[in-house]
Amino acid sequence: IKDSYLKRINQVEDQVQSYITVTEELANKQLKEYENKKDALLAGIPIAVKDNMSTEGVKTTCASKMLENYEPPYNATVVEKLNQAGALTMGKTNMDEFAMGSTTENSAFFVSRNPWNLDHAPGGSSGGSAAAVAAGECAAALGSDTGGSIRQPASYCGVVGLKPTYGMVSRYGLVAFASSLDQIGPITKDVEDSAIMMNVISGYDPKDSTSIADKKEDYTKYLKQDVSGMKIGIPAEYFELKIDPEVKASVLSAIEKLKEAGAEVEKVHMTDASYALAAYYVIAPAEASSNLARYDGVRYGLRSEKADDINQMFTNTRLEGFGDEVKRRIVIGTYALSSGYYDAYYLKAQKVRTLIKDDFDRIFKEFDLIVTPTAPSTALNLESEKDPLEMYHTDIFTVPVNIAGVPAMSIPCGFNDNQMPIGLQLIGPHFGEGKIIQAAYTLE
Ligand code: GLN
Repeated sequence: IKDSYLKRINQVEDQVQSYITVTEELANKQLKEYENKKDALLAGIPIAVKDNMSTEGVKTTCASKMLENYEPPYNATVVEKLNQAGALTMGKTNMDEFAMGSTTENSAFFVSRNPWNLDHAPGGSSGGSAAAVAAGECAAALGSDTGGSIRQPASYCGVVGLKPTYGMVSRYGLVAFASSLDQIGPITKDVEDSAIMMNVISGYDPKDSTSIADKKEDYTKYLKQDVSGMKIGIPAEYFELKIDPEVKASVLSAIEKLKEAGAEVEKVHMTDASYALAAYYVIAPAEASSNLARYDGVRYGLRSEKADDINQMFTNTRLEGFGDEVKRRIVIGTYALSSGYYDAYYLKAQKVRTLIKDDFDRIFKEFDLIVTPTAPSTALNLESEKDPLEMYHTDIFTVPVNIAGVPAMSIPCGFNDNQMPIGLQLIGPHFGEGKIIQAAYTLE
């Protein structure tokens, strides 16, 4: 299997550019070492890993100049779990720098392209992972999702992306962006593969203080069940937002299919998603500004040559090492956490966060799932001008899910007239991955 995937990488990688590093040697070595793992769940299966998850002795760059030559001395827990399951590491995928962005254009190295149309972005920030799966350059990939970065690129590339419940998958060894929102999950060709990947990567990890015990399940068992009797809520206000008409029509027709399959579908009313978006763009930058303080030229990666004293070294390292979007987030985050502004921004955002979580809890007392589009449009053209604020707006359907900590999956539900994939989002209650997989499988 490995060789056919490597061949495919050689065929298309010039155009798609999903990988920052292809680890052919490592995959060959793993194949030899895994002789005794022939019965393991992912024996010999080629998997790609987003370049913000630590891989021992293999560059982990976060698509940043800051970490361009950084080789971690240990594996992230998810990488360990893949190895234990016999998976082969095909390489590390491109992303927006430190996972900040929605197109993968914020990578400090190069742009990845959407395999469905090379003039379009694959989405982001896990754009390399989604493109690699869609182009057949790996059997499955890992992404990370802080505000939509697994689901949105999955939607744009016509594949399946699952953001698990916060705490279901260990973040140990994931380079932190916004720790209270970050979550690792699978990007796969279909729902069954997603369930199998979850069986491998989920579960308690004492090395992650937010990891949840005793909730791991066999997710493949949900593949056999149907949706009859399931109650599905359609948030009316979400569908009134600015959505591309082709996206809306395609999502609505998928909802009809759920009805035909026996689900009870009903309109629900939820808090305006723009509050979640506003809270996200305070909380995520605030946490990022704190997490990224460690890149000071002393402990990791880049150190500026142009400095006479320590303060100048610190400043110049960060000036040279970070790209524009990362700097923008650090400035916003530092501002929101400053004394005098903390109550007005950060504290307020945390209060909004609680209200949004309560809102989801209220809906899930009555409903099994919520269905929305994954994104307001299909993949953006690489040439188009992108205004940061407009870009933030495209996260409107995915961000509330991270704010509430609940799981959600994007699955393909059709194409627009230009043959670009459209994605539908299934949102579940905490630990509702099984229900999501069940409904998603019905729609496949
Ligand atoms: N687009 C969002 C952002 O730029 C989401 C990023 C993510 O989920 N990592 O913050």
